[in-house]
Amino acid sequence: MKHVDVLVRGAGIVGQSLALSLGRLGLQVGLRPDEPRPEGAPDVRAYALNAASVALLKSLKVWDALPAHAATPVYDMHVRGDAHHSAIDFSAWEQRAGELAWIVDAPVLERELGAAVRFSPHVHVLTAAQADHVKADLTALCEGKASASRAALGVRFERHDYGHSAIAARLVASVPHQGTARQWFRSPDVLALLPFDSPEPQRSYALVWSLPRERCAELMALDDTAFAAALMAATEGAAGDLQIASPRAEWPLAIAQASAWCGPGWVLLGDAAHLVHPLAGQGLNLGLADVAALTRVIAAREPWRPLADEKLLRRYVRERALPTWAMGQLTDGLLRLFSQPSPAVRELRNRGLGLVNRATPLKRWLTARALDR
Ligand SMILES: Cc1cc2nc3c(=O)[nH]c(=O)nc-3n(C[C@H](O)[C@H](O)[C@H](O)COP(=O)(O)OP(=O)(O)OC[C@H]3O[C@@H](n4cnc5c(N)ncnc54)[C@H](O)[C@@H]3O)c2cc1C
Repeated sequence: MKHVDVLVRGAGIVGQSLALSLGRLGLQVGLRPDEPRPEGAPDVRAYALNAASVALLKSLKVWDALPAHAATPVYDMHVRGDAHHSAIDFSAWEQRAGELAWIVDAPVLERELGAAVRFSPHVHVLTAAQADHVKADLTALCEGKASASRAALGVRFERHDYGHSAIAARLVASVPHQGTARQWFRSPDVLALLPFDSPEPQRSYALVWSLPRERCAELMALDDTAFAAALMAATEGAAGDLQIASPRAEWPLAIAQASAWCGPGWVLLGDAAHLVHPLAGQGLNLGLADVAALTRVIAAREPWRPLADEKLLRRYVRERALPTWAMGQLTDGLLRLFSQPSPAVRELRNRGLGLVNRATPLKRWLTARALDR
């Protein structure tokens, strides 16, 4: 293959979704995955996806192919502050929505996207040598936060390290989750239990626990029994007895933005363009919204306008820059607010949670923003 319309570098969830989405416009797309990684520990990533992300995956015919245990609906969400009276509850019923979000098994979703890519007549999986030689009108970089092609273009990735890491694992609880997500915002940790149906239907959770790096290292060094005890203390038994059902994985956390998102013949999407703290579970949702926006911009372009035209690509950047910036500010602001140890700030934020909980219209508005509806 000597020429493709678009070369997508990076075959994570964003890259594969983009390749399929542009292929559906009839464009010839080359997809360059990374070299396969050596077999390691099982992949424990699970993501909360909003309605817009699910709609995109449905349009790509991938959502309905997911096995039932790989996508669990969230009907209720309890968020707790660091005092007993500070809590906020969200419910799908209150929002007149079928569900608040879906918790999706990341490796299963990547596998189903891979299967769809193989069946797509317009998407061509390329080797490194083919990708280096193929001519492409547009190159889309979806290589994640450490994108080497972005660095080769001279684009800076302006990054603020939180000094925190997130621990992820699969858990099994003694009582059914009933589609309820639980989150604790405290100083200095943020802990989320996301309802999940694997390995045990109705009784599993995906854990995402963000902590200062030293505390994270201490917890990672514990054996499963001691780690489960620390988790039980942190959750005060709210989800029943919790057992560790997978190895633990750890990610350093940062907020970052690329200094430019497009140029003549290239464009950035997903974590290669922007990185946010996972406390609101929005990083991949932002990346999939990038895919939907770029597809719309390309589909609506004037017939004479080439794909490489920077003016065209700037339409995509204009559409995505503000919501991405706003989400970065929101997650960053929440994190700063909840990491303040001062008793006065603590009292204020705990009262704030209670106030928002009672202000139904504000709560509805916040939930609608999170659902992207
Ligand atoms: C603990 C944690 C929990 C999270 N939870 C959520 C959540 O609940 N909801 C949510 O929306 N988001 C969540 N996120 C964010 C989410 O993980 C990312 O936003 C998302 O994975 C970004 O997808 P991506 O495809 O852009 O990048 P990646 O997933 O990093 O994929 C990039 C791909 O490109 C490949 N690649 C890299 N370099 C090259 C190269 N030179 N050539 C070819 N290929 C290359 C990589 O191997 C990889 O396959 C969470 C993040 C963390 C850390």
